[in-house]
Amino acid sequence: MALQTACASSKEERILPLLSPTGRARHQQAKRIDSIPQHYAEMSGEELDQRISAARDALGERLVILGHHYQRDEIIKYADFRGDSFKLAQLAAARPQADYIVFCGVHFMAESADILSGPHQQVILPNPAAGCSMADMANIAEVEECWEMLLDILGEDAGIIPVTYMNSAANLKAFCGRNGGIVCTSSNAPAVVKWAFSRGKRVLFFPDEHLGRNTALKYGIPEACMFVWNPKDPMASNTADEEIEQAQIILWKGYCTTHMRFNVQQIEKARADYPGIKVLVHPECRREVVEAADLYGSTEYIIAQIEKAPAGSQWAVATEINLVHRLAQEHPDQFIFCLDPVICPCSTMYRIHPAYLAWVLEGLVNGEVINQVKVDEDTVCRAKVALERMLAL
Ligand code: SF4
Repeated sequence: MALQTACASSKEERILPLLSPTGRARHQQAKRIDSIPQHYAEMSGEELDQRISAARDALGERLVILGHHYQRDEIIKYADFRGDSFKLAQLAAARPQADYIVFCGVHFMAESADILSGPHQQVILPNPAAGCSMADMANIAEVEECWEMLLDILGEDAGIIPVTYMNSAANLKAFCGRNGGIVCTSSNAPAVVKWAFSRGKRVLFFPDEHLGRNTALKYGIPEACMFVWNPKDPMASNTADEEIEQAQIILWKGYCTTHMRFNVQQIEKARADYPGIKVLVHPECRREVVEAADLYGSTEYIIAQIEKAPAGSQWAVATEINLVHRLAQEHPDQFIFCLDPVICPCSTMYRIHPAYLAWVLEGLVNGEVINQVKVDEDTVCRAKVALERMLAL
């Protein structure tokens, strides 16, 4: 899908058929409220169901609800579309009739949807506290400090191409856009790294060390040619000039708290308990977990493997528990379980509760846009440059 790089148009204010003049006035200021009104928090599941359904009906085509695969079932059942972050952002852009995109996911996903959606569309994250622990491990000040230190060490012709994972703040995507870099997803990371090396001598990969390492290994870069940059201790790089000079890829020391729960002992136990079982893991897992698995790939890849598997297949899956449970429910002819015996939900995804969904939807019906996620125009413009490079691959 081609993206526009021109940044002249801003999100236009819309006049909503459901709004009274008073409602329109309120609508001019989208509210960001971190704490949900108490009466929503006290509603029963049945009442929330009824209210969410009524609000959806009232908003009709002007609303699209997006549900990330890691959302709980009580949210997913209301989603018009399910997917990973990038697929959902593209789907939102493909629904121009929807004035409101309610993104049941985490903050960086809502930002991406705002970047990719039309100027008339408003993106809402039901609970603004739904962040991503990995995305939060890299901020723009730290990345710019790292960039300057690398240029100091390597010189102006260092040939560094910045690559940011989709799971990052919009201003990091913009950083890549203005520094010759690119965005990647867990599906296309190998192609993105290949693209980066066709243009530069080195890659700075953030914020996920493990996706970066697993991708670099697949590309053929040995561990000895990787340097791990610790943003909490950047001065350590002063004693590592030689290592940085020899590095082909500089990996940001960030990780996903959910995927870091998986280990090789769990894989060994699964194989001992269920001989012949296939182990399927996400590339945000550590290198040794990926290497011990039968297959690894993105969330969409994991789903596709199970969907095309014959009845009787057995899978131990290393990814978020809500998705694994749903796959098990939807494929009762297969044996599917999560590799981690202790429940491992993404705790930030879990912050989207039906009470938050009911609250923001009823707000829209009443002419209030609550918890809108809005990326400034300059950041949108530069982030789109990095996203366009990825889409052109
Ligand atoms: S599963 Fe990991 S990377 Fe994905 S939103 Fe949760 S913390 Fe972030």
